[in-house]
Amino acid sequence: MASGFSAFLEDARLTVQALRDFGSHLVHPTVRLGVTGLSRAGKTVFITALVHGLVRGGRFPVFESLATGRIARARLEPQPDDAIPRFDYERHLRALIDERRWPDSTTDISELRLAVDYQSRGGAERTLVIDIVDYPGEWLLDLPLLETSYEQWSAQSLALSHSGPRARLAADWHAHLALLRPLAPADEQEVLTAARLFTAYLKACRDERFAMSTLPPGRFLLPGAMAGTPAVTFAPLKVSAGDEPPAGSLWAMMRRRFESYKSAIVRPFFREHFARLDRQIVLVDALAAFNAGPAALHDLEAAMAAILDCFRVGRRTLLSALIRPRIDRILFAATKADHLHHASHDRLEAVLKEMMREALDRAGTTGAITDAIAIAAVRATREAEVKQGRGRLPAIVGTPVAGETSGSDTFDGETDIATFPGDLPENVEALFKDGAAFQGLSAAPATQADFRFMRFRPPVLETDASGKPALPHIRLDRALQFLIGDRLT
Ligand code: GDP
Repeated sequence: MASGFSAFLEDARLTVQALRDFGSHLVHPTVRLGVTGLSRAGKTVFITALVHGLVRGGRFPVFESLATGRIARARLEPQPDDAIPRFDYERHLRALIDERRWPDSTTDISELRLAVDYQSRGGAERTLVIDIVDYPGEWLLDLPLLETSYEQWSAQSLALSHSGPRARLAADWHAHLALLRPLAPADEQEVLTAARLFTAYLKACRDERFAMSTLPPGRFLLPGAMAGTPAVTFAPLKVSAGDEPPAGSLWAMMRRRFESYKSAIVRPFFREHFARLDRQIVLVDALAAFNAGPAALHDLEAAMAAILDCFRVGRRTLLSALIRPRIDRILFAATKADHLHHASHDRLEAVLKEMMREALDRAGTTGAITDAIAIAAVRATREAEVKQGRGRLPAIVGTPVAGETSGSDTFDGETDIATFPGDLPENVEALFKDGAAFQGLSAAPATQADFRFMRFRPPVLETDASGKPALPHIRLDRALQFLIGDRLT
């Protein structure tokens, strides 16, 4: 009786919540904006800069509604979902502005609600509610697992781990794997060790030197709240598809955990979060991939195709019962463009557009409008010309993070330096050729490939003519115009 009553209460509560959601949507149109990208792509910095720009009125000439003065104000409001952590905007902003250090990166899903009061083009007073949902791009790469068996996944992961630069990184895990007997009784210590070595291999691939992108299961790298659970503690085995594992065997245990990973983690994420998004920006650290060479670039392109494939799912059959994405605009953004001279920004954008086209060819049409852009959500550098012999060379000036080095110099985090940014080749194909590596930043014109970018501290705030402080950026306003401009007309 009591449980019947509480079930009734639960139903009633859900109905009330649904009505409230629906009601508030009627009062104020809402757009759910997904912000994703692989780890360190720049999600946290992007959201912090975007919200700061909207709330404090940034310099956004291409964001039409703000530039023409139709936006009266933007304010933060309590988010709609009680079970998702709030995006810690205030803490991230303090880090960026007060401490001039980069905020802590995304490790889990989070949400923030913005309400924008604006005047429509027809003169009516309106409010658009923007729910920003920040989540790791690694989680999207898990979608194909829903259609994959443990045995297929094991075979794919093993084949991948023997290819290219991955093989060396997988050596410890491979050595342990050779000792395992899948048909023997399950031993939890063996499973823990296998999972630890397999995870260490995935992490090593993500090391910036290799910048590998396609590495499911995504939660092994970013487990969020699931860290330490059995659902993220398993690893591939040498087993053949079609056979059944004996009850109680190591194989059976690994397989059960793999299935739990799908049902307890992957499925709920796609159903409860991904399927509710309206617009999506995918941030891409293309410069890190250029630096790491062609293998990383091909990998990044494969990751972009896999991500696009998620948006296409609703138009496919198998998974469409689970998720029907309603996303109608997807923007790929190459971040950290402030590491390049402005002469190269268009080139960076062209490279990303080309990669997106290739990825679209592979993934097929998504039914959404897609575009690609090069941005710096926070511009940490400014441009200058430096005398070099008889000529003048375009340079960028910034404050290297304390401890950064160049040659024999170690920087103290206070001194500005001028560096010569690497030039992107005009011919995009050149970047994909074996042996190619992008000339990264160096304190002198680079003579050999530099595999690492200098990290600069966030900038000092700029003040505009009216004395209002703003974070400098590159093309953040264009990104905003594409993502939500049409919803503010
Ligand atoms: P997340 O893992 O996607 O949340 O990545 P973050 O937003 O934390 O960014 C990772 C790192 O990239 C930061 O700590 C910065 O060093 C760098 N970064 C991100 N955005 C920018 C940018 O606009 N300009 C510059 N110069 N660096 C950036």
